[in-house]
Amino acid sequence: MEPNVVSEEYLNLQTGIMEEQKKFRTYLKKDLSLDVEKGELNLEIPVLPQLTSPPVTIPLFREALDRISFVFKDHQPKIAEDIIQVVKGLTDEEVKKWIKGSITFNMDYFTLFSKGTPIEPSLLHFVAEQALRPFMQVLGEKCSTFINELDVMGTCPCCGEPPRLALLEEDGDKHLYCPRCETKWKQKKLQCVHCGDDRHENLFYVTIEEDATSKLEVCKTCQNYLKLVVEDINGEEKQATLLDLETIHLDFIAQQEGFGDSNS
Ligand SMILES: [Zn+2]
Ligand SMILES: [Zn+2]
Repeated sequence: MEPNVVSEEYLNLQTGIMEEQKKFRTYLKKDLSLDVEKGELNLEIPVLPQLTSPPVTIPLFREALDRISFVFKDHQPKIAEDIIQVVKGLTDEEVKKWIKGSITFNMDYFTLFSKGTPIEPSLLHFVAEQALRPFMQVLGEKCSTFINELDVMGTCPCCGEPPRLALLEEDGDKHLYCPRCETKWKQKKLQCVHCGDDRHENLFYVTIEEDATSKLEVCKTCQNYLKLVVEDINGEEKQATLLDLETIHLDFIAQQEGFGDSNS
């Protein structure tokens, strides 16, 4: 099997989106006021649901949706126009629901919404998720100085997304790395990141012959998995989003083997 099974077209679209998100982040950092005080946080639950003011506003999310839908123009012109039209036609109430739907991964909402549009539910959700990420990344950056003080089980301590990816460092340290908010946090002990089982014999690893830099860590107890990527110390640091994409072949293998969370 080819280690890279993602089509070039999709990779180019994703790269285009990542560039746009980067630009938008710079803009957001000036325009979005996020009040995060470590002293006021409960350190056992993720930061996002504890915020007192919304981390995403309707006008800024609209701007993000516009920018993401325009990236499609360069890479998927056939569907770009439909996406742009749908985004343009959203009422404030609908934008609010898109924000909520993307934060909570509510596929039912996007399935329902897609009925009045020519767009597939998964694509609508994808656009909303990509528009949400810059907000989560700005939040991630705000929390980066104290994120290791949080002790949250089973999710990213910043945005609450289930862990999917970890970086293995040269000295043996393992950092979990969130493709949604780009938060990197230290895994304190060897245990399943999903169910907390710390009996080491219950974790096993699936490696692929053609791939020396990434593998799957699977838990016998909950059957869920984590993708482990060996840190490239000579190369430039890669964003979690990119690593997640580069290791998508591992997700396919996990799916084939029946590993993973049936809810996602
Ligand atoms: Zn996160
Ligand atoms: Zn487990």
